[in-house]
Amino acid sequence: MKRPIIIHPDPRLKKVCTPVDDLSDDLRTLADDMLETMYDAPGIGLAAPQVGILQRLIVLDCVKEEGAAPRPLVMFNPEVVASSDETNTYEEGCLSIPDQYGDVTRPKVVDVAWMDADGKLQSETFDGLWATCVQHEIDHLNGKLFIDYLKPLRRQIITRKMVKLKREQARA
Ligand SMILES: [Zn+2]
Repeated sequence: MKRPIIIHPDPRLKKVCTPVDDLSDDLRTLADDMLETMYDAPGIGLAAPQVGILQRLIVLDCVKEEGAAPRPLVMFNPEVVASSDETNTYEEGCLSIPDQYGDVTRPKVVDVAWMDADGKLQSETFDGLWATCVQHEIDHLNGKLFIDYLKPLRRQIITRKMVKLKREQARA
């Protein structure tokens, strides 16, 4: 089931989310719903606070090649355990900040550990777009948005546009 995506600014997007101790069927359903919501948007990543759930859960799939098999990843309690000195700059966007983009510089390669939907511990090294995406999503769990990396004026302009968008949506 698709879930509505919260649009910035919203206090729920600024909160530090709580770790998942016990995997439940509700949380597995939430992960499935988040993947469906992400693919439908379409996007390459989604964090639980973006659908109003303040728990440490993200989903992502950065496979972009036409016709390539999808690779949905569900990560509970994801954590960057090591990151490269080498950086990468990508023009990032966010499903909670529609149609706004900005260059963000992050470590190019990261080692990430997480718990999968079966409760098993996993770890993997991510590079390129996957590395950027997983860091962007983990930021969400700490109440941080990609616009927080931009210059204050740019951030203000984007936030004002979002306030206006939400006003228009509320009226519609
Ligand atoms: Zn985002």
